[in-house]
Amino acid sequence: MDPTFSVGDRVLLIDAKRRRYLITLREGGEFHTHAGITPHDSLIGAPDGSTVRSGSGARYLAVRPTLADFVLSMPRGAQVIYPKDLGPLLILADIFPGARVLEAGVGSGALSMTLLRAGAEVVGYELREDFAAKAQANVASFLGDGLPYRVELRDVYDGIDETGLDRILLDLPEPWRVVKPALGALRPGGIFVSYLPTIVQVAQLREALDAASFVLAETIEVLQRSWHVEGQSVRPDHRMVAHTGFLTAARRAADPPAAPPGAPGPDTE
Ligand code: SAH
Repeated sequence: MDPTFSVGDRVLLIDAKRRRYLITLREGGEFHTHAGITPHDSLIGAPDGSTVRSGSGARYLAVRPTLADFVLSMPRGAQVIYPKDLGPLLILADIFPGARVLEAGVGSGALSMTLLRAGAEVVGYELREDFAAKAQANVASFLGDGLPYRVELRDVYDGIDETGLDRILLDLPEPWRVVKPALGALRPGGIFVSYLPTIVQVAQLREALDAASFVLAETIEVLQRSWHVEGQSVRPDHRMVAHTGFLTAARRAADPPAAPPGAPGPDTE
């Protein structure tokens, strides 16, 4: 990636109080706050990580937004999955370049971006037209066009058309309704992952996964505690996000080999 900023790039400006402003560079553009006007031209051609000044002398650190920065500042319709959970989801789902993934629902596209950036090919099912449009706009705006990403306006509870999928990732209220369709849509050894806000939902999902002979089911939550580090004052921050969601993963076993006709069952001898 070019280390200098050019027209059309997104730039995150961070002031002395660590307030963050996401802008898109335009020729002749201006960034206005109570601390004065900063011309975009002072950033065009400047390296990532530069410091710029507004007309009245306020200083801003200018950096390219990371995926996490973008997720936290992009336009949102639906609640997004936060970076704290996005990273672990990639590992739980074992996402790899070229992985064929079904994602439902796509909401604002935070998880879509994370999957695409890790090299997955993603088909999204989404109920709401406005969210589908927002997700696609967010993905294109952060990752550009031409990615292996398609969003279909449909209800995943009605079934899944894709077959031979490597992974299915769900962020919706009743994932147990997707377990049976997932069995047919995933390849043997494929991984099913669900993000759920309450443990009652997790219990219902785990029962459905067991009943459908999914294997290696596991549920985790990720607790992230940030630290205040300033001189001799080094301690955990006073506040932390107490809860976001539970992550559940399970694998589709190969179909059990069909017993030959007349063969004894496991309990008959
Ligand atoms: N993971 C997303 C947020 C998803 S919010 C992100 O990180 O940005 C949940 C989304 O699921 C909503 O957009 C909702 O419209 C969609 N949804 C709920 N039930 C659905 C269903 N049965 N089929 C498809 N999409 C569904």
